[in-house]
Amino acid sequence: MEKTNINFVSDMNSVNDSVNVVVGCGLAGIVIANKIATELNEPVVIMERKDHIGGTCYDYVDSETGIHVHKYGPHIFRTNSTEVWEYLSKYTKWYPYMHRVLGVIDGISVPIPFNLDSLHKALPVTLADKLEEKLIEKFGFNTKVPILELRKTNDKDLNFLADFIYEKVFLKYTLKQWGVKPEQLDPSVTGSVPVFIGRDSRYFQERFQGIPFDGYTAMFERMLAHPNISVMLNTDFLKIKNTVQYKRLFYTGAIEEYFDYKFGKLPYRSLDIKIETFNVPSFQEVSVVNYPENYDFTRITENKQFLNDKSDKTVLTFEYPMDFEEGKNERIYPILNPTNQAIYDQYLAEAKKIPNVYFLGRLGAYRYYDMNRTIQGSFETFNEIMGK
Ligand SMILES: Cc1cc2nc3c(=O)[nH]c(=O)nc-3n(C[C@H](O)[C@H](O)[C@H](O)COP(=O)(O)OP(=O)(O)OC[C@H]3O[C@@H](n4cnc5c(N)ncnc54)[C@H](O)[C@@H]3O)c2cc1C
Repeated sequence: MEKTNINFVSDMNSVNDSVNVVVGCGLAGIVIANKIATELNEPVVIMERKDHIGGTCYDYVDSETGIHVHKYGPHIFRTNSTEVWEYLSKYTKWYPYMHRVLGVIDGISVPIPFNLDSLHKALPVTLADKLEEKLIEKFGFNTKVPILELRKTNDKDLNFLADFIYEKVFLKYTLKQWGVKPEQLDPSVTGSVPVFIGRDSRYFQERFQGIPFDGYTAMFERMLAHPNISVMLNTDFLKIKNTVQYKRLFYTGAIEEYFDYKFGKLPYRSLDIKIETFNVPSFQEVSVVNYPENYDFTRITENKQFLNDKSDKTVLTFEYPMDFEEGKNERIYPILNPTNQAIYDQYLAEAKKIPNVYFLGRLGAYRYYDMNRTIQGSFETFNEIMGK
């Protein structure tokens, strides 16, 4: 697809009470701006705090190696929605990438989510055969079982297996990632990586999967290149909040920050991301390898594998989880529990009282939203303003 130009502006001349202001130039902000510009034919100004577009999905071509690097960690697009897939496909071709993850347990690489092949790689053949038979009998073939549910079975062999998987795959990874044990987390978190009683080694099963052919940033550039859209980088909306006029405001930053923390802070886990170039053409078998037991990082991503970039070097990303601290790192994973949900609900109730202001995206919802859900959220907001 052809290269396009975004209308970057650095002053407030185009901001007045007849424009739509979008705060945040991540996926949620880009989609709502694109819909308003192309379908409503109205002007939009996007204000972004960072010095680049794309938010957490931003990627760049590393100048030394020519490899596309996912700056904030690996991003694999997937959706079951034809509407979402066709919408993005107007702005990108797709590299038909299917995600496979390995986890190193006891020094052996096994498919993650743990499946019947992992079972056979990790345990002796006679034991693995027996456990496979019992798993299929109890849960059926091609089924997904959350680890905490597997631990509840009465069968002693399945209990042994459940404890093995819990210890080796979940416990230490969860402690590293979240700083707490799996049972202290909202079940939606541990349930998102179940044990799979089958042999499909793909990490995702959605109908449409892939990586934008020339990267996420190139796709976003095309979505933003419209005469109705202007983008202001290095602009923190909250610093100029009182001076900004708008017809409608779409806020994709953290809802608690918008309200100046009046109901308290919303906690998040964050990541320290280290990106390093190594002088070898290939480092690992698949793009992402998890290390539940060893090291302080949770996983290593080999960026060149997403788009099959050719280089005699490789660029690796190491993710070190940590707590979110204002001004030090990014809000990444919301810590969902009843206390935090109650705080969020207060912000949401406050948000609903303000006319023509909409909160969207992962930070507006205080949820871990994948890209599909983020896009669906922006579609929903667009339908709301259209009165649908
Ligand atoms: C490590 C990691 C891996 C992921 N992997 C996947 C994956 O494989 N597949 C998948 O589907 N999803 C994945 N996701 C989720 C995906 O990143 C999100 O769905 C998506 O980025 C959400 O977009 P957003 O616009 O809501 O938020 P963001 O991308 O965070 O964008 C919000 C933007 O708002 C800006 N902003 C905030 N406040 C202000 C302000 N006051 N003024 C100006 N600008 C402001 C921020 O700087 C930011 O650029 C992953 C997320 C992470 C963290």
